[in-house]
Parts: sequence; C-alpha cells; structure tokens
Amino acid sequence: MRPAILNPLFASLKTLKGVGDKIAKPFGRLFGREEPRIIDLLFHLPYSAIDRRSMPKLSEVVPDTIVTLEVTVDRHVPGRGRAPYKIRTHQGMQTLDLVYFHISPERAEKMFPAGATRYVSGLVSMYDSHFQMTHPDRVGSEKDLPEILTVEPVYPLTEGLATGTMRRTAANALAKLPDLPEWCDPSFLAQKKFAPFSTALRRMHAPEEVVDVAPESPFRARLAYDELLSHQLALALLRTRIRRDKGRKSIGDGRLRAKIEAALTFSLTGAQKAAIQEIIRDLSSEHRMLRLLQGDVGSGKTVVALMAAAHVIEAGRQAAIMAPTEILARQHYDRIAPLAKAAGIRISILTGRERGRDREALLEQLAAGEIHLLVGTHALFQEGVEFKDLALAVVDEQHRFGVHQRLALAQKGEAVDLLVMTATPIPRTLVLTYFGDMDVSELRSKPAGRQPIDTRTISLGRIEEVVEAIGRGIQSGARVYWICPLIEESELVDLAAAEERYAFLKERFGKKVGLVHGRMRPTEKDAAMEKFARGETQILVSTTVVEVGVDVPEATIMVIEHAERFGLAQLHQLRGRVGRGSGQSTCLLLYKTPLGEAAKRRLSTMRETEDGFRIAEEDLALRGEGEVLGTRQSGLPGFKIANHEQHGALLEAARKDAALILMRDPALATERGRTLRILLHLFEREDAVRLIEAG
Ligand code: ADP
Ligand code: MG
Repeated sequence: MRPAILNPLFASLKTLKGVGDKIAKPFGRLFGREEPRIIDLLFHLPYSAIDRRSMPKLSEVVPDTIVTLEVTVDRHVPGRGRAPYKIRTHQGMQTLDLVYFHISPERAEKMFPAGATRYVSGLVSMYDSHFQMTHPDRVGSEKDLPEILTVEPVYPLTEGLATGTMRRTAANALAKLPDLPEWCDPSFLAQKKFAPFSTALRRMHAPEEVVDVAPESPFRARLAYDELLSHQLALALLRTRIRRDKGRKSIGDGRLRAKIEAALTFSLTGAQKAAIQEIIRDLSSEHRMLRLLQGDVGSGKTVVALMAAAHVIEAGRQAAIMAPTEILARQHYDRIAPLAKAAGIRISILTGRERGRDREALLEQLAAGEIHLLVGTHALFQEGVEFKDLALAVVDEQHRFGVHQRLALAQKGEAVDLLVMTATPIPRTLVLTYFGDMDVSELRSKPAGRQPIDTRTISLGRIEEVVEAIGRGIQSGARVYWICPLIEESELVDLAAAEERYAFLKERFGKKVGLVHGRMRPTEKDAAMEKFARGETQILVSTTVVEVGVDVPEATIMVIEHAERFGLAQLHQLRGRVGRGSGQSTCLLLYKTPLGEAAKRRLSTMRETEDGFRIAEEDLALRGEGEVLGTRQSGLPGFKIANHEQHGALLEAARKDAALILMRDPALATERGRTLRILLHLFEREDAVRLIEAG
C-alpha cells in the first residue's frame, strides 16, 4: 500500500485546475503514459531557466539579451500584406517596437491601449538601429510585475504544449507537494550540502537563481541521488530475495536443443555456444540464475535465449520471453516459432492485443502446461496469467524495463531463473552499479559472414544527391530506413519532422514509401513495419521508434537525418538495423553544418568502428560535451533524473548506502526504514516493497 502522504502526487494531472482532456493529451505523450499524473510532471525537470528580474533602462539594454522593460504605448501599426503587426512604445527618449506575426488588431488593442504603461519581458534585438522585441514572452501592467520579475524555468516541451501552459501547470502541481520525512542520513546530507527532497524539487520548478536548475545543481543532484538510492535498494532487495530462495534444478537431455540446432540455417558462433553453456550450467544447478546476456545489436542473442528455453522445456517445465514493445514481441515470436515448432515446442504469444475468448483459451493452456514457451510484452506478468511451472524468464530489456518488472515476471513461478538481455554494451565498470550483482555472459563477436557497414557522413546540403542514390538503390530492390529525429522541444523548428520528410519522399517515390512514428497506434505501427518487412514499401521513414531490435535482414541502407543531434549509443543502435543479412550495407549520416567538436568526434567514431564496446566507452567519455537531442537520452537508461555525467559518482555512494541500510534493517522496519519505503513508492519501486512484506 502506498503511504497516504504520497497520494496527492499520484493523482491524475486532470485534478489540477486548468487541465482537461485536451491538455492532458500532450502531457501524456511527453511522459509516455495515457493518464499523466502529478508526479510525472514534478519529475519532468526544467533544463534551464531565464532570469527576468533585470529591469534596465532601455538606453542601457545590450541587444540580444532577455530583459524586462517598462514602456509607454504610443501607437499601433497594423502590418500590410505579409508585414508583421507593430506596436510602437517608448521609454524616455528611446523607442521600442513590439512585433507580432499573428495577432488580431482587437487583441493587440486590448493588450496595449495607447498611453498605457506596460511591462514587457523578452529578447530585445536591434533592427534598423531600432530596438525591438518580437513576441514578448510576458506582458502585464504594474499589478502583474511580481509574477513577471522571476527566474523562470524552461522545460522540454512537445507539440501542442505551450511554454506558458507547462509553467502554470507545473506551478499548480508543485502546490500539491508535501514535505516528506527525511530518508537520508543527516551526516551524508551535510557532507554533500543536500537540501531536503521537497525543497530540492521546489527549487527546480520555482528556481531562485538560474544555477538552481543547472546540470551541476546540488538540488538536482539531491533528487538524482534519491532516484539512484531507490534503484539500488530495489536491486539489493531483489538480489537478497533471489539468492535466498534456493534454485530448482532443470535437467535437460539436449534432445530439443539438438532439433533446434538442426533446424538453424547457420551454425552457432563460439560466443553463442559459450553463453549457452554458461546458462545451462546455471539452469541445471541448485543455484538460482540471475544473469545478464550482453551483446551488441545483431550479435544473435535470440537463439541463445531459445536454447535456454529449450533446456527447461526438456525438463518438463515452461519458459517465457518478454520484450519491451508489441513490435518486438511479435518479431521474437515470428523468428522463434518456426524453430520451436521444428523441435516440437508449443509456443504462443500474449500481448495487450490478445483479448476475449482467444486470450482465455491461451491462459487455460498455459495453466495446464500445454504451452511450453510464451512470448509477449509486459502483458505476461499481469494478473490472471498463471503458468503451470515457469522455470525461466527471459527479459529482452533493451534498457526499457526497470528492475520491478523483471521481478514481477520472476514471481510467476517458484524460484524462476532470470536471464536479462541487453543490447547496450555497458562498460564493465558500470555493469555492477547499474544492474547490481549479476553474472554476465557476453556475445562479443558477431556471427560470421557479415560484411562491414560502409558508414559515410554527408552534409544535409547534399540531400539531393542522397535522394538520387536512394532512387538507384530501390530500383535494384534495396530497402531503406530513413530516420528523422523526434521533436522534443517545439522551439527546434528547424528539425525535419518525419511527416514532412515522408511527404517529400512520397512525391519522389510514391507508394514505395512508408511511415512509422511514435504517435501511431500499435496496430498502425505494426502494419507499417510489416509492409516494409514484406517489401511492399522500400523506404521506411521513421522517428526513432525503430531504434529497438526490429529485424528486417533485407534492409541495407540506413539514412539518419540530423545525425549530429544523436548520441553515440543511439547512432550505433540505429546503424545496427542494417548489415543483418549478407548484402553490403550502407549507413549515411546526414548532418547540419557547422558541427560542434563533440558532434564531430561522434560522427568520426561512427565512421571508424562498429565495435559496440568501443563505442560505449567513447560514448561515456563524450557524454556531457555538446548537445545531444533531447534531455532524456543523455540520462541513465531507465532513469528520469539521474544522468551519468553529472551523477555517475553518486551511483557508487547509493550502492554502498543501500547495502548498509539493508544490512542493518533488512525489513525496513525501523523509523528510517519506514521513510525509505516512502522513497521506494515515490520512485515506483513498490514491487520491492511488496517483496519485503512477503517476508
Ligand atoms: P540480437 O542480438 O540483436 O537480438 P538477433 O538474435 O536478432 O540479434 O540476431 C540477428 C540476426 O542474426 C538474426 O537474423 C539471426 O537469425 C542471425 N544469426 C544469429 N546467430 C547467427 C549465427 N551464428 N550465424 C549467422 N546468423 C546468425
Ligand atoms: Mg534481439
């Protein structure tokens, strides 16, 4: 049960004044949930702030700075034709033009009656030796001044969500934040100069100084620490629990594995064989498995997972493979099913799309043990899904799941063995802190027969040449991914939207072009992907939704637009979508000039190497230098606040703290223990809490 003190934070955003269905929608999109909650908004932190408190004389204003000015309205100059609407104002001997591109004369007259005193805040520029302010951010009369003269947080936005709405809603959300009891050790807080949690969160949304929201802000660090601590606590609880329960032996005889191997069109690599051996050793022992299978995109993890599943099925038990998205679950299913069937393994799929009678029938078969292997999404660990005897849970994490989801799946059986697969080659130094104490198998070498991907960097100015080349490619049957960056902040208007690019390419290539993006419904997405997989469309324009795991071996060309805006890890993941078959593949990284130093290094690293582990290390070294699209991507996977470059050092502290806490108070039963439970709930690690309560 969630502590009552947190309830206001988990209420729907719609309980706030001014938030109805219409506004809730873009918020939901921003937070990736259908029913956005107050907590989602409070953890959506500003990335910078604007100081509007300076009110200089107009004669002393430095052009291209943001200031607040007191002016007197003189007259209105409605724009003729395409010219903007201007309002001429003055202060002393100086004049200031307020410039609006879309404003009705009525509204302008109302906001700026002639002769009135007005306070305007925004960017002042010089035009024809004239001061002007285009679209002031804030306008008001004297009574509004206290509200204008503030340090204003600047948030990542999304389409359909204006700055003002975000700011007002965040302020309303903040009013719901209670003072929470302290869960951190006082001497630790003193040493780090950390404020209490609620103070820190208030200072992010209502900063007193611009530095309060800076990346290195101690307020931000406090929140990051709390997030890391909750993660480490949950990991430690999971580990203790898993290690405590004795594992159950699954002894296979190899007969199903032999059949699968015989049905493969290739032979297993040495790395795959070694990983399978390690896993089977765990499965056959009393020791309960908690293993990470690390391997770059395309390294062949799926077949390793299938062999592990086959082993427990030979022992008369069941296995489950869980993927983070519907597309991926279906893809796993489609790839695995023929092999499973060749071996006589009964396999099914369960996602949110299986409903009604079919779902019921499936659940019955599962409970009766008639289904040996179940592939699916998070629908797998929902209530009502009962296995007869689940022995192995494979989680294809692709860094989208948190520890609590793994846990929920592991609770679907007795002493279930866990295999977590990740496509992000995580440097060894980070594995322990991020994943906790797990055994690790690595697939470092790629399957033989792969040709290296020809990676080139091309300026966006040469896009016509690229389109020509692609035209020749699809003539000869090639399949092309065209990735457009996602617009996270509406200010970034120069970003090519996927829809625009789609329209542009469609004009050239007609029906051969498909589109898939994050805002489509799952069924639409699947349909677009399937068309591409079948070759009905040959160019798939996409936002980064294809980033994860999708496998179309026939695709040999990857175009990434605005490659300079992506982080290395993401570029590497995207490139991994091609070069999966035997054909020669090409990756074209289109960038906008001029390139910053860090972007230059990222792109040249991409040209130089395909080694995921090397790229991961380079990525770590480059993090924090230069702009990477969106704020979330530079964070630690699965974290909302903590990021590696600023808070990496805190990770180790949090890990030690968690270990110490649980050594002294394993049931979180002391007074501090109870406050730590609040922390776990706050960051939605309640499965960990349930684990303690289950004893
Ligand atoms: P990932 O590690 O990204 O999940 P997959 O398991 O999807 O990689 O494998 C990528 C592709 O490589 C698939 O088409 C798969 O059939 C193929 N593959 C896997 N193992 C081998 C191998 N030993 N030899 C050749 N191809 C392989
Ligand atoms: Mg995979």
